[in-house]
Amino acid sequence: MKIAVEGCCHSELDKIYKELKRQEEKTQSQVDVLLIAGDFQAVRNEADLECLSVPKKYRKLGDFSSYYSGEKKAPVLTIFIGGNHEASNYLWELYYGGWVCPNIYYMGAANIINISGLRIAGLSGIYKEKDYKKGHFEKVPYNIASLKSVYHVREFEVCKLLNTARTRPIDIFLSHDWPRGIERYGDLKRLLSIKPYFFEDIQNNCLGSAANERLMNELQPAYWFAAHMHVKFEAIKIHNANENCKENPDEIDLNEEGEEDEAITKIEKPHKATRFLALDKCIPGRHFLEILDIPTPLETNEKPILSYDVDWLAICRVFHSYFSIEYQQPSLPWDNVYLEKEIEKEKKWVYDHIAQSYGLEIPQHFEHTAPTAGNAFLEHPRMKISLVFGIDSCSI
Ligand code: 5GP
Ligand code: MN
Repeated sequence: MKIAVEGCCHSELDKIYKELKRQEEKTQSQVDVLLIAGDFQAVRNEADLECLSVPKKYRKLGDFSSYYSGEKKAPVLTIFIGGNHEASNYLWELYYGGWVCPNIYYMGAANIINISGLRIAGLSGIYKEKDYKKGHFEKVPYNIASLKSVYHVREFEVCKLLNTARTRPIDIFLSHDWPRGIERYGDLKRLLSIKPYFFEDIQNNCLGSAANERLMNELQPAYWFAAHMHVKFEAIKIHNANENCKENPDEIDLNEEGEEDEAITKIEKPHKATRFLALDKCIPGRHFLEILDIPTPLETNEKPILSYDVDWLAICRVFHSYFSIEYQQPSLPWDNVYLEKEIEKEKKWVYDHIAQSYGLEIPQHFEHTAPTAGNAFLEHPRMKISLVFGIDSCSI
């Protein structure tokens, strides 16, 4: 399957699709799906600008508003995660993932979906230790602090994703910020020549996300795509077999001699190495888009099929009772015996109530939930102020 990967989007969809077309023509290939690694800026209308954390000069409607209104249509199935510049009010409406407009799918705060048999995981936001253990307490209208904390990664989502290490291997992981320490597995010298100001963070081992580092070590996906640092960077991390904690000794069958039998180990082994690729933001002449050819378990010549992941849906059901929209996040479950039992139970529920009745294909069921640009709206109290005093007054 031909997969295109884009770094930060910043609502420059027109430029991205144009570059995609250029690369398709150059390589005589057709891309099946485009993955965008955050800073998407799904701003539907003027009021959404209130919920976007950007310096004043960038506070303007981007290309996305025309895709939302229906004036333009995404030419290729596009899937994205959130970064630190987002219409956070809109993304919150689609916490579990969904279509932000026809043919553009947001993965939600965290998710695993399948495309023609490839298992793709995503985690939105950026890591900040101070908000990591909080609940999703932020409410619209955001204040100066919650406008930023709303996109900070929470342990709740990371804990859910870590539990997927018990299930089938992940093929692709999509994050906005880099896994901490990944710079040591690529051309660090070149990276520092482009971004010398990373030196101090690298010395202090704090460049990138500690949560992503753990996810990479435990899930060991075949590919990991990221953005945020505004530079192209490639790395290969070879995993130490002991790093992955999903091997449960009870689940490993022994042969007649009492030795571990590779062939009948119940859990599939994860990938032995992760190929990491970070791309730049969309500026002409910079490396912001790349097309990769990744083999899929289900090779089809037709359109790629997007489907729900049974294990992920089961994990969502197990964790739902711990989900918090308050400041406080209740303690999370880490007990392996409990989790394995609960996930198995919920998996059966998902098969019986969803997979069998409806199938697992994600339907294209986009619906508008807000006015389109130019048709706004006096309902939002802060918009009233901005219409009288100008948009910048909204930040007061
Ligand atoms: P954004 O587009 O998200 O506003 O900003 C990303 C910018 O912040 C990039 O230029 C990137 O190099 C820088 N950046 C992101 N994370 C870090 C970090 O952990 N350390 C340093 N030194 N710079 C960072
Ligand atoms: Mn960013």
